[in-house]
Amino acid sequence: VDFGFQTIPASEKAQRVHKVFENVASNYDIMNDVMSVGIHRIWKDYFVKKMFPLPPGTKVIDVAGGTGDIAFRMLQSIERQNKHLNINVTDANESRKNSSILISDINQAMLDVGRERAIKMNLQSDMLSWLCADAQQLPLADNSFDLYTIAFGIRNVTEVSKALDEAYRILRPGGRFLCLEFSHVKNPLLKWVYDTYSFQIIPPLGEVVAGDWKSYQYLVESIRKFPTQDRFKDMIEEAGFRSVKYENLTFGVVTIHSGYKI
Ligand code: SAM
Repeated sequence: VDFGFQTIPASEKAQRVHKVFENVASNYDIMNDVMSVGIHRIWKDYFVKKMFPLPPGTKVIDVAGGTGDIAFRMLQSIERQNKHLNINVTDANESRKNSSILISDINQAMLDVGRERAIKMNLQSDMLSWLCADAQQLPLADNSFDLYTIAFGIRNVTEVSKALDEAYRILRPGGRFLCLEFSHVKNPLLKWVYDTYSFQIIPPLGEVVAGDWKSYQYLVESIRKFPTQDRFKDMIEEAGFRSVKYENLTFGVVTIHSGYKI
């Protein structure tokens, strides 16, 4: 496994990734805004929009959910949708129509920041729950979720295929897999601009804003190591998913992959 500018064994990747996210947890949200000039908000809004409308009572898991960016957007959209459909989930008869979102992440430091944010944003809903777990080995029953989401998380997992197998296992038949991840820009000119920005601006920015060059260098490197759009589509199919499609955003800087467990 390549990590930073050196090669390390796969067993060490997990430890390093853990350290990176422990280091960046407290600055994670501000750094996202700084590094992407706020564009990550547009990608995430678009990603969540793709899931709606959600049938009432949908069971969602957001894996590698970190500080809650995806789950909080989903929660707000579900609440808007309930209002629109006139569903009163506090009414006992209607409570079965209540959807739920489980945010899981391997790093408790990220989840802690997420919980604090939920309090600050006044988003302490019964719909939300939190779980510290590895995407490659989820302590959850087979066929128990309708929707599995993972945003900017899967490239950090040591064995991507194991995470995909777990996604397949815990989704019920008919359930949907949705992944938002950095990907690859094909256009040579745009690629040059993007590479220059990534390698020459992001690590120094990490140093200035968060005092942490290495973690941000890792983030850039891990993006380059991640499979191409087509290869990742193949991997999702190899896990058993069908109707697998992808959509590039911002010329392929990020991609949304989607598939169904049939
Ligand atoms: N989904 C959030 C977002 O879009 O803002 C957080 C993304 S953050 C770049 C990546 C997250 O993946 C971190 O919170 C990290 O702890 C988590 N992660 C890394 N390896 C993981 C694993 N094996 N299982 C679950 N989460 C993992």
